This record gives sequence, structure tokens and C-alpha cells, in this order.
Amino acid sequence: HGTTMDDKERVERIVEELKLSDVQLRKVMQLLDDEMNKGLCKGTNPNAAIKMFPTYVRSIPDGTEEGNYLALDLGGTNFRVLLIRLNGSEVSMRSKIFLVPNFIMTGTAEELFDHIAECISKFMHEEGIADQKLPLGFTFSFPCKQEGLARARLSQWTKGFKVSGVEGEDIVRLLHEAIERRDDIDVECVAVINDTVGAQISCAHEDRNCQIGLILGTGSNACYMEQLDKVETWDGDERAPRQVIINTEWGAFGDNGVLDFIRTQYDQELDAKFSVNPGKQLYEKMMSGMYLGELARLYLERLVNEGLLFEGQSSDLLSTPGRFYTKYISEIESDKRDDFKNTKSVLEYDLGIENYSNADCHYVQYVCSLVSSRAAHLASCGCAVLLNRVARPSVTIAVDGSLYRFHPKFGDIMEQKVSQLVNKGLKFKIMLSHDGSGKGAALVAAVACRIR
Ligand code: ADP
Repeated sequence: HGTTMDDKERVERIVEELKLSDVQLRKVMQLLDDEMNKGLCKGTNPNAAIKMFPTYVRSIPDGTEEGNYLALDLGGTNFRVLLIRLNGSEVSMRSKIFLVPNFIMTGTAEELFDHIAECISKFMHEEGIADQKLPLGFTFSFPCKQEGLARARLSQWTKGFKVSGVEGEDIVRLLHEAIERRDDIDVECVAVINDTVGAQISCAHEDRNCQIGLILGTGSNACYMEQLDKVETWDGDERAPRQVIINTEWGAFGDNGVLDFIRTQYDQELDAKFSVNPGKQLYEKMMSGMYLGELARLYLERLVNEGLLFEGQSSDLLSTPGRFYTKYISEIESDKRDDFKNTKSVLEYDLGIENYSNADCHYVQYVCSLVSSRAAHLASCGCAVLLNRVARPSVTIAVDGSLYRFHPKFGDIMEQKVSQLVNKGLKFKIMLSHDGSGKGAALVAAVACRIR
């Protein structure tokens, strides 16, 4: 099975739609900026795809925060309970990861919050702090309409969660009720934040230019510091500082159809057949960890079916939806030029494909790199839009999430593309945030306790 020029052309014809030109990317930016304005305006917000939720976080930490705090981190792969000690610039933490079993991810509100309360109790007993009354910061990374720092109504579940009785409810109330149902701990949730805000705040603790938080993990989202004058939907305190962090919930960009000009047949198939929330989170589905592997798999499957890969022979594993993990993309793209070590290992050991040629390895790499570059380019559009909105000469973007952290080229591609897309004269830095969901929640909780 040799590679003829024809095969190359046929592959190219199938995957070409994944390449976005700068003209297309600039159009994406314009649309995103328009949608963000709609989200911030009172009249247009109810129908806006991007909700632009004000977070009630009004300032970044000043480094004087201190004390012991509990934090919860719920929002994707793991559920964690943390104990964080803040002392000026020193932060220490202990944490424990708990599983959220599948039946709880798709069960009832009471089951979910009883489970959370039980995990908090277990953790506090193990740490010997069950007798203390500690303030808690809750990093809850789903779209919420906040009515205060400690009041957050879930608008809709994303990222594979589907617990009944939570949408439309205040998750702090649900948590407090579950804590009250058991009487072995005394914990008060004083702040709810999103993981984007956690990343921004924890990074801002060291770098005061940090005005943007970005997540590229299971899902994708971003937040940024906005001027109150631009936030028509703000109904909180009007005093200084006249700014507030906006949780954009940009994952929902495109849900009204504006991204259809770049969405492919396979974006549509993934949305309709693979995801549990068809029609929702369409921008997120083009650029986050939960979906990129499946997207690559759909293209590979097409190439197999056209007889362009593996002599037309797939494997059971490669034919199984969800079975081509996003981390394979990182592994495959980590191969040195034309040394197919990781690619072969994924094909053979992870996917059970026995007959493959070097040309096959090359095409597999090519598909992976197109899927991840498109994701990085779309994320770059979002960052450039936020940098233009913040419009400060020098801004740091805090990033968290396994896709960004572990993909070998995502960061470099983004730096390059954001530089091309952002308004002239604006300088930026992208910085990995560490433990944002824990440290950020504790820092916000500390500020919340101080101002009460
Ligand atoms: P979360 O966003 O749920 O808090 P993570 O930031 O760890 O958690 O993101 C998990 C997502 O990252 C999963 O969807 C997974 O597919 C993806 N992922 C995990 N490891 C890698 C990797 N090495 N390369 C790319 N993506 C990865």
C-alpha cells in the first residue's frame, strides 16, 4: 500500500476544512466581541448565547490575606476538598481527591450534595479539624448566575453532568442544607467562584497584571476584569473599585448558529451523537479536552472508511466513540519529526491496530495536529478579544487545564496566533496557573470574610 499523490490529495481534501485562515479567525473575533456586548447589555442579555456573568469578585488579592480556609473544587474530572493556609505571600495546602461516581453525576441534587458534604466531613476528620468552624470557598465550574459572592444559581449543567433539581437553584443553599442534614461539621460557604476566576486570582496573587483567566481542560471558559460602566447587567455595589470580574461562559459561543460557517460535518456529528448536551457549548466542543480526541477519531474513521488509512481496516477500539482520548493527541504530537515512537505505541498498544505503515503514522499525526491547532487558534481568538477589551499595555493571562498543560504545542501556537490577532501595542504574557481552584477560592473567601 504505497502513498500515491492521489491519496495525499484525497486526505487533504477531507481535512482541509479544519484549517482556519486569519480572515476566518478575525471574523470569529468580531462575532465573539459582538456576542460579549450582547451578554453585558440588560436588554439583550436574556437572549445572548454568552452570558457574561458578573462574579462579584471586584479586586485582585493584595497579598495581605491570611487564615485557614476550606475549598471545594467541583467542575469536571475530579472533586477535591482542600485546606488552605494563607499567610501573606505564603500559601500551603492539603487536599484530597474524591471520585464523583457516575450515578451521582446523573442522579439527584440531594444525592450530589449529600455526597459533597460527606466528603467534606471525611476530609475534616482525617485532618483533625472537624471541630473547627472554617469559612469555605467553593470553586463550582459550571455556568452560574450569581446574585452575590455566596449566591449562585446554576443556569445549566455542562461537561457531562446531568443532576436533576439543581438547574435554577442556588448551589450554596443546596450545600448548606446538605451540611445541616448531617450534624458533625460546621462549615459556611462564603464565596462561590468559577475555575477561570480561581486561575486568575491565584495568579494575580503573584502578578498584579493578571487580568484574564483561561481554562482549557475538560471544557473551555474565560474570565476577565471589566469596568463597571460597561456592565449594564450589574446590580450590585456601585462604589469603587468600579470593576468586576466577568465570567464570560464563552463555551456557549456559537449556540445561536453564528459559528456554523466554520463548523464541519464532524463537529455536528460529535455534538449530535457523542455529547449529552446537543446544540449547546458549540465553541467549547471545538476546543476542549472532553471533545478533541473524539473529533480526531471521527476524521481518522473517515480516512479508514475511504481506504486512506490502515488499508481500510479499523480496530474495535478505534471504532468505539470516546475511545480515542485527547491525551493521545498530545502523545502523538510529541513525536520528533518522522520518529513515530509514540504514534506507533498509541496505534498498537492503545488501539490494537496491527497493520500500519509510516505513511499511516504520518496521516494520524497530521489529523491530530490539525484538530489541536484549530482548537489553539480558536482559543487565541478568544484571548485576543479579551486583551482588546482589557486594553492595558501589559496583561498576563492565567491558564489552567490539562489540555493546555500537557499538549506539546498548544502554548506556542497560542502565543504566536494571539500576537498576530491582538490590537497593535498590547503586550501579553501567558502564565500557567497552579492550584487555582484551591488557592483562588481561599483567597476570595479571605477577602469575603474581611469585608463582612
Ligand atoms: P478539569 O478541566 O475537569 O478540571 P483537567 O484540566 O485535568 O480537569 O482536564 C481534563 C481534560 O483534559 C480531559 O478531557 C482530558 O481528555 C484532557 N487531558 C488529560 N490529559 C491530557 C493530555 N496529556 N493532553 C491533552 N489533554 C489531556
